[in-house]
Amino acid sequence: MPSDSALRIVWIYPDLLSTYGDQGNVLVLEQRAQRRGIETETIYVRSADPVPESGDIYLIGGGEDRPQILAAERLRKDGGLHRAIARGAAMLAVCAGYQIMGSTFGGEEGQPVDGIGVLDIASSRGPARAVGELVAEVDAELGLPTLTGFENHMGVTRLGPGVKALSRTTVGVGNGDGFEGCYAGHIVGTYLHGPALARNPALADLLLSWRAGDLAPLDDTRYEQLRRERLAAVLGS
Ligand code: GLN
Repeated sequence: MPSDSALRIVWIYPDLLSTYGDQGNVLVLEQRAQRRGIETETIYVRSADPVPESGDIYLIGGGEDRPQILAAERLRKDGGLHRAIARGAAMLAVCAGYQIMGSTFGGEEGQPVDGIGVLDIASSRGPARAVGELVAEVDAELGLPTLTGFENHMGVTRLGPGVKALSRTTVGVGNGDGFEGCYAGHIVGTYLHGPALARNPALADLLLSWRAGDLAPLDDTRYEQLRRERLAAVLGS
């Protein structure tokens, strides 16, 4: 039994949104917390179940258009995620999950579908599918190293004044305007798969620090090596 003080990680709708190994983000958070002696409890919330309000870090992944529409409807009706965010929970939303957080996104025919409105963004269908590697330089305020991952989406995302761009793309499409992802408060949205947190452990630590405070450093030599190889394969250096 996890103790009451365990860090609660909530994976939303594994039955609807879980493409490209995005569930790996859960594993990375668990491992990076546990390697520091922070106890974790992970809650898998299927789409028929209510979203608990008392989680610390919420994760949602990418998916096809139809499950994405269903997920948005269910999250809106449920309201648990809105309440969790109002209580200060942290969140990483990827691709379809990222689009859902906004006011609107494009459905399977490109029709506008209502999002859940917790991020000031609006998505719609772009001119072409964005597929391939993505490399982006993170907003200086967050102080994170270069982001790496891959993308596969039709949607483009416009950021409103209530959010800041997470990063500026050097390779790939991201939001479609030279930027990739966004953040506001303790919510991060991104088009990155990889899974995102496996390819970018510093982003995992940012989310953890928002709920667990200062973190002890970890020996990431092996991960740094993998990141260097990955970036060199894309950037050709
Ligand atoms: N259906 C959305 C799009 O194509 C999200 C895709 C995804 O999550 N990979 O933009």
